[in-house]
Amino acid sequence: MPASYATKVNLFIVWIAILMAAINAFQRRFTEAKKDEKLEEANNILLKLSISDEITGIPNMNYFLSQALECLHDKKTDISKMLFLFIDIENFKNFNEKYGFMEGNELLRSVADAVQEVFKGDTVARFSNDNFVVFAKDDKICTKLTHIEKVLLNYGNEIKMKLKTGAYRPENRDILPIVACDHARYACYSIKKHFEKYFCEYSEEMDNDLHRKQYIINNIDKALEKKYIKVYYQPVMNATSGKLAGMEALARWDDPEFGFLVPGVFINTLEEYREIHKLDMYVLNQVCMDIVESMKDGSQVVPVSVNFSRMDFEVFDLANEVEKVLALYGIDKKYIHVEITESAITENDDKLQDAMDRFRKSGYSLWLDDFGSGYSGLNVLKEYDFDVMKIDMKFLHNFDGNEKTRVILRNIITLAKDIVMLTLTEGVETKDVSDFLTEIGCEKLQGFFFGKPMPRSEIMEKIRTGVYVLESV
Ligand code: C2E
Ligand code: MG
Ligand code: MG
Repeated sequence: MPASYATKVNLFIVWIAILMAAINAFQRRFTEAKKDEKLEEANNILLKLSISDEITGIPNMNYFLSQALECLHDKKTDISKMLFLFIDIENFKNFNEKYGFMEGNELLRSVADAVQEVFKGDTVARFSNDNFVVFAKDDKICTKLTHIEKVLLNYGNEIKMKLKTGAYRPENRDILPIVACDHARYACYSIKKHFEKYFCEYSEEMDNDLHRKQYIINNIDKALEKKYIKVYYQPVMNATSGKLAGMEALARWDDPEFGFLVPGVFINTLEEYREIHKLDMYVLNQVCMDIVESMKDGSQVVPVSVNFSRMDFEVFDLANEVEKVLALYGIDKKYIHVEITESAITENDDKLQDAMDRFRKSGYSLWLDDFGSGYSGLNVLKEYDFDVMKIDMKFLHNFDGNEKTRVILRNIITLAKDIVMLTLTEGVETKDVSDFLTEIGCEKLQGFFFGKPMPRSEIMEKIRTGVYVLESV
């Protein structure tokens, strides 16, 4: 019997409903499938991002470190034939400044591609800025680096760029790749200022240096707190009267664990890590305490020169900090001379000039330390106002053997007088030198001939027993 119209309509509605449900299901499936696809695509992008460097596209450090670690621990790797390399593009900064970031990035990409190509099969990465690292087989490394360097010839004719590379040979499988890279970087930076050197392997000497530096930085606070750092005093003589005109405060670090640390080493390290202000303020405080003690004892007091670093001016308002310390101990400014080394002074530095001006205006005597040690030119004398020029002891080298020495010293002292500066010569070790300097008009003398830096108790004893006769301030 033919279906009624109503039944047909009902069947049609059921069919439509089934069709709709099917379409819905299909759409849901389709959307889910799309989602999965997108998720996979997104996952791929994220994976790529997490393992590759944004600018160059070669592996990044995270990936490098995990790969290098795996490789180090793989017994099949003969680590005696492997090297960690740290590559630096010398002068890249100048290139970037001249040609802009876009060109700079382009160059980095080309170098990165070349590094990857040349060290095929090795683990490579961009470390940061213009630095790349490679965990490489020790095989024709220098030839490979020369190949990479050729890429630089295509860029910036006016700026000569070269590669500098540091290398570190892992001693065992336990070394952390990041530490190995750090050693290679240390070797690389050790040749930064050597124009003719382009490759350097990390040595035992560097290892000792690095440990010493780490020790200094990790222990400076403790050393100051426990007073492992002491202030020694070296006499400064009035050349004509032969009396004690002052003293220079010099820091000594005698560490119970590490032993004696040479000032040249710990001072450079503290400067490098911007911690020198801690030492300088500690020395200033100690000097003030010693002056207060002498005053309490009724002893006569002479001015003390305190060494300050260029870095001090960068970390705080030095003139203000010094002022606060002197106020705390109630000490007159005439008892503290401010020494700043010539190497610290740069020409056209308005900020430093302003800070020094404030020092002078508030009544301190400013001394230019190590004059002529080779860092800055005579312009420093023109641009800054110092009261005393401390002539570097290098000038006294070969005093008897080189006739020019006397001529040069005589002229420096004449020059200083013409621009109304007093002079002090450092490193006076013999009577001959002392007599000559006195004769040509050098006002103050300092050196082993008069006394080495010594603990306060020793210099006080020498004053008490009349070895040194004090000049009145
Ligand atoms: P400087 O300020 O030029 O100090 C003079 C250095 O020459 C001292 O070395 C002293 O021991 C040495 N010296 C003095 N007379 C003679 C001599 O007749 N012959 C020889 N061969 N050497 C002599 P020191 O104590 O090793 O200090 C080295 C440098 O370390 C100082 O040179 C100064 O620049 C820096 N320094 C020392 N203490 C401090 C400090 O507390 N703060 C800062 N920022 N630097 C300091
Ligand atoms: Mg000095
Ligand atoms: Mg000096």
